[in-house]
Amino acid sequence: MDGREYVAFCSNDYLGLAAHPDLIEAACEGAQRYGVGAGASHLILGHTEPHHRLEEALARFVDLPAALIISTGYMANLGLITALPGRGDCIFADKLNHASLNDAALLSRADFKRYTHLDLSALERMLESSTARTKLIVSDAVFSMDGDVAPARELLALAEHFDAWLVLDDAHGFGVLGAHGRGVLEQHGLRSPRIAYIATLGKAAGVYGAFVAGERELIDILVQRARTYVYTTATPALIAHALLTSLDLIENGDARREHLSVLVQRIQRGLSAGAWRLLPSDTAIQPLIVGGSIEALAASEKLTERGLLVPAIRPPTVAQGTARLRISLSADHSIEDVERLIDAIRSIQGSA
Ligand SMILES: *Cc1c(COP(=O)(O)O)cnc(C)c1O
Repeated sequence: MDGREYVAFCSNDYLGLAAHPDLIEAACEGAQRYGVGAGASHLILGHTEPHHRLEEALARFVDLPAALIISTGYMANLGLITALPGRGDCIFADKLNHASLNDAALLSRADFKRYTHLDLSALERMLESSTARTKLIVSDAVFSMDGDVAPARELLALAEHFDAWLVLDDAHGFGVLGAHGRGVLEQHGLRSPRIAYIATLGKAAGVYGAFVAGERELIDILVQRARTYVYTTATPALIAHALLTSLDLIENGDARREHLSVLVQRIQRGLSAGAWRLLPSDTAIQPLIVGGSIEALAASEKLTERGLLVPAIRPPTVAQGTARLRISLSADHSIEDVERLIDAIRSIQGSA
């Protein structure tokens, strides 16, 4: 910016793939083969062979029967959640879920009940007293502002007991969690026909897009009823083509995931003793609670002066009194980058 170099601690490019030479090459090759624009929606003419191959590869990768590409994670959530329930049905959602899941719930016209973050007994009481025909339990797998992980196994047990769907949004887990980055389901060893799995492809996958995966019947319903799939221009085929390469890089990215986890441990050790409270996260999202909005903004500005970009996240995005520096790590960071950040934060919070 303005001729000065910064190190960014605010991207979702967790594996550092967004500018990977193999991905750039695949995108160029995709453009040469398929052109740039899709030209039409999926159901008309926009759905091509690379889309089809990508959907099969994604389903195989997350070990679910079928998958459907939707342009973005925001749209995947709107499309899925408005396709399943309607008036008289009920959605049960964690209070810290991503905005797109909340918007989807409102648009669905179903009753919308939110339980305290991670409070399984509150969720259970809500489910017990519900008479809705179709019920959806909806949760982020990794929470975007706190970096903590949903108790996916317990959520699935509740879904099974109360005959509900479990919608898991793995935007921050796909590519990162589980063996070879297969995501939250693999990490917890979960499989069930009740699961509707969503992941974005613009974060760890380093490209753009999203998909829903689950039973073949679920995917068939979405092809007909997910309005953000039916009534929009298809994702360009070149993106699907590049994503096939991204999937290979993710699958063979153990070294990147290990490096990322070293960086996470470094931050947790380096910032645990200061005046500001570091949330106990073992994901790439490392929130440092400063408290007041003015203080958080000032801290972010001081870091910018030192060449480090760390955004201040303030209410209403997070709860009152919990304004924070939201550090996000990438496998592209070096240990020296992270040491530099730790030193800078220690000196500005006066605990060095
Ligand atoms: C980023 C994000 C989305 C939106 O995904 P896009 O592909 O950027 O539209 C949805 N859910 C969660 C939890 C996210 O973090």
